[in-house]
Amino acid sequence: PSKYEVSAEAAVDLAKRHLIQPWPYSGSIGTEARSLIGSGDGIYIHDGEGRRLIDGPAGMWCVNAGHRREELARVMYDQAMELSYNTPWYTMNSPSAVLAERIAGHAPGDLRHVFFTTGGSSAVESALRFMQFYNNVRGRSEKKLIISRGGAYHGSTYLSASLNGRPRDRDWMDIAGGLVVKLTSPDPFRRPAAMTIEAFSDFLVSEFEETVERLGADKIGAFVAEPIQASGGVIVSPPNYLPRIRQICRANDILYISDEVVTGFGRLGEIFASESVFGLSPDIITFAKGVTSGYFPLGGMIVSDRLLADLRRSNHPDAMYAHGLTYSSHPVGCAVALANLDLLENGILDHARDVAPYFIEEMKTLEDLPLVGEVRGIGLMACVECVADRESNNPLQLDIEVGKRIDAHCYALGLLVRPLIHMCVMSPPLIITREQIDDMVAILREGI
Ligand code: PLP
Repeated sequence: PSKYEVSAEAAVDLAKRHLIQPWPYSGSIGTEARSLIGSGDGIYIHDGEGRRLIDGPAGMWCVNAGHRREELARVMYDQAMELSYNTPWYTMNSPSAVLAERIAGHAPGDLRHVFFTTGGSSAVESALRFMQFYNNVRGRSEKKLIISRGGAYHGSTYLSASLNGRPRDRDWMDIAGGLVVKLTSPDPFRRPAAMTIEAFSDFLVSEFEETVERLGADKIGAFVAEPIQASGGVIVSPPNYLPRIRQICRANDILYISDEVVTGFGRLGEIFASESVFGLSPDIITFAKGVTSGYFPLGGMIVSDRLLADLRRSNHPDAMYAHGLTYSSHPVGCAVALANLDLLENGILDHARDVAPYFIEEMKTLEDLPLVGEVRGIGLMACVECVADRESNNPLQLDIEVGKRIDAHCYALGLLVRPLIHMCVMSPPLIITREQIDDMVAILREGI
């Protein structure tokens, strides 16, 4: 243990007095202690009482290579001893240049240029501000509206959070509402009864076309979409719907921003899923989380050759993209991302592709439980959605959120779950074995 480790009781006491946790309720803000996690190893974490738990959500969809990897810890130590930080304003470091080249090599189409941030929200924020800059420089200062969708999650900074689709993420916070247009969540489970998947896909595409028509393409700057809506409940949209939207964006000079913060770096068996899984080549990809397997806060956006060439050709060669973070291109983050890419490329991606069908198949067996309306997923991400009854498929509402109740039962049985109101999301480390999937699903079954 590190020399800063204190006893579980002491940590709980200090947190209750001094620590503000993310996403707190006003009634308990600043007085709350959550389950204390003391250590991790592979797909497991250990809590303050020494209980071993399967890390079902891989932290926050991020610990892709698993906990306690010597290779990753060592490279962070070595890099910090060599160069712990340099200003990215007027200097650069070698790991960031090498990483940018490696990432560009995996990105689709002409996405060849990487801007590093501190995480996913700052990646999305950077992409949106880039769109504003791009249109200003090209003399299209009216072209700024952003199209997002119900069920989306894109971050916790002002503009990125303004794109979030779930009402409760916005109820008590102000957003840049006038800049954002929300369309229907592409959730096949929640499509109108009697509508086929094909008809639902047509409906989503027409809704998009009508929106462009109504608002005017000259007013719309970007469409932002997760290939799979993650926090929205692992929404696998109808086949071919995203490529069709991509075409409309291209025809109307609307930037397509693919938010791969969750799907990137192996979750769907590929470094990026936009093209290989969904057949679309975006103008910008945002990434974070799995890029370092959660060992260091790092994210970024990849921008196409075309967009940069447009900027260079513009009439404003001295216009500045006045945007950058103190920790953009952090050498320790970039170094650990390189070591993480080595791991993904040399075995973990193959393994993820190999076990994913088994993971989905086993998760699907939970559909025989009466509380479960649907289990859906792709790659190594899945969601169990609980319903009041199978006739109505209405979300199950209890006095306490059902996801949290399932999490409490599973926790006692040795599995951490990501509860989402009436849903549970599972996205284990990509190194999970078939036997460990069996353990995970058996606990989920008992917990539900
Ligand atoms: N985009 C997506 C798709 C996400 O799921 C998240 C976080 O869960 C974010 C952006 C925000 O990332 P971060 O929490 O690293 O700022």
